[in-house]
Amino acid sequence: GEKKRCDLAAELRELVTLQESEATARGIGLSLEAGEAPTVAGDRERLRQAFLNLILNALQATGEGGRVAVRLAMRGASGDMPAGVEITVSDTGRGIDPAQREKIFTPFFTTKEGGTGLGLVITQRIVEAHGGTIGLESEPGRGTTFRVWLPV
Ligand code: ADP
Ligand code: MG
Repeated sequence: GEKKRCDLAAELRELVTLQESEATARGIGLSLEAGEAPTVAGDRERLRQAFLNLILNALQATGEGGRVAVRLAMRGASGDMPAGVEITVSDTGRGIDPAQREKIFTPFFTTKEGGTGLGLVITQRIVEAHGGTIGLESEPGRGTTFRVWLPV
């Protein structure tokens, strides 16, 4: 698709708002922290798809009393890294088993009944098509954080 200036804070706010009733119904706290962040050059629909996938995965991994936090922050240039924005989606859910960790970006790998196993593949493809990177930290039984970096 076409790349235009995208206000990621506004897009994330809308995505979070759309998932709020579902989260509340399931007893999960869903929050967004978006500080001042520059726009990114991107395909709005595709970027929304990427972050929606991460938010849905986080909600699906989390049970009653849990929390999902979406954060957007600016990252100044440092060392070899140019300036960018970092978007994290953190959950207090079940975490990812180290043995499964290398498979989660593989097409059709899913641990869910009725899962497609395509969400993260698509998310990674979208992030990389925007010149960005995606990574994660996870602790089984405690939660997971997906971290996306996009150039500005
Ligand atoms: P699907 O959601 O259809 O299973 P995805 O590609 O979105 O496919 O995710 C692949 C797998 O990665 C999931 O089935 C799950 O095992 C794991 N996963 C992804 N996000 C999380 C998360 N936030 N917490 C725990 N596991 C996750
Ligand atoms: Mg998914």
